[in-house]
Amino acid sequence: RAKADGRGTYRFFETGMDARAQARRLLEMDLRAALQRNEFQPYYQPIRDVVSDRVVAFEALLRWNHPQRGLIAPINFIPLAEETGLIVQLGELVLRRACADAATWPDDVGVAVNLSPVQFKNPNLIASVTEALEKSGLAARRLELEITESVLLQNSEATLTTLHELRAMGVRISLDDFGTGYSSLSYLRSFPFDKIKIDRSFVSELATREDSVAIIRAVTGLGRSLGIVTTAEGVENDAQLELLRREGCTQAQGYLFSKPRPASEVAMMLDRPRLRASA
Ligand code: C2E
Ligand code: MG
Ligand code: MG
Ligand code: MG
Repeated sequence: RAKADGRGTYRFFETGMDARAQARRLLEMDLRAALQRNEFQPYYQPIRDVVSDRVVAFEALLRWNHPQRGLIAPINFIPLAEETGLIVQLGELVLRRACADAATWPDDVGVAVNLSPVQFKNPNLIASVTEALEKSGLAARRLELEITESVLLQNSEATLTTLHELRAMGVRISLDDFGTGYSSLSYLRSFPFDKIKIDRSFVSELATREDSVAIIRAVTGLGRSLGIVTTAEGVENDAQLELLRREGCTQAQGYLFSKPRPASEVAMMLDRPRLRASA
C-alpha cells in the first residue's frame, strides 16, 4: 500500500488503479461482444522457401476489426484474452478459419497457426484441431502449429503428451521466437520440432551487429544437423535475405515479401513474388 507516502499519493494511487481496472473491464466486455459480433479474422503473411523463392505457407495472424477503433493488433488484446480465458474461443476460431481458408489454396501451400500456452491447459485442444481439420478437409500435414518456449515451461509432462499426439496426427510443430527465451537449446531436446523460427530481433540486427550473423549461422547449422527447417522472421530487405540464403536458412518471412493481409488477398500474394509493406 502507498499509505506511508501521504494521503495525496495514496488517493492518487487508488484512483489510478481504479481507472486501469475499469479500462480492463471495458476491454473484456468489448472482447466478449466482439466474439459474438464476429469481429475477429486471421490475416495471412507468406513464408517463402529461400532457395526456390516459392511461397510454402502462410502464417495466420489474428486481427480485431473494431467498428470504432479500426484494425487492432494482437498485442492489444491477446494478453487480456489469455487472462480471461477467452483465448480458448479465439484460438478455436483462428484454427477453424485458417484450416477452412487453407483448404482453398494450392495443395503444396500450408498454414501456420499460433497457439497460446493457455490453450494447452484446455482439455479440448486436440479435439478442436481434429474438428478444424475434418470440417475443412485440410490434410494434417498442411497445418503447422507455432508454440513458444513459454508453452513448454508450464506443466510440461501434459504439454509434451499433447504435442506428441498432435504430431502423431500428422500436424507439424514449430518453435516460434527462437533465441529470445532463457534456455532455447534445451527445448530442442525436449521435443522433436519440425521447424525453428529465428526471432525477428536477430534478423533486424544483421547489418549492425556481427554477433547476430554468428547467431544466425549457429542456428541454421543446428537446424541442418538436427534435420529441422529454419525460418527467419522479420526479413525486411534484400541484404538480409542474401545473408540468410548464404547461411543456409531454409525459409524467410517478412515485410520484404508482404505484410499480413486478409484471406481475400492470398491469391494475389501467391501470384506476385513481392509485395512490400507499403504496396
Ligand atoms: P509471431 O507469431 O512471432 O508473429 C510474427 C509477428 O511479426 C507478426 O506480428 C507479424 O505481423 C510481424 N512481422 C512479420 N514480418 C515483419 C517484418 O518484416 N518486420 C516487422 N517489424 N514485423 C514483422 P503481429 O501480427 O502483430 O502478431 C504479434 C504476435 O501476436 C505474434 O507473434 C503471436 O505471438 C501473437 N499472435 C498473432 N495471432 C495469434 C493467434 O491467432 N493466436 C495466438 N495465441 N497468438 C497470436
Ligand atoms: Mg508465430
Ligand atoms: Mg515469432
Ligand atoms: Mg512473437
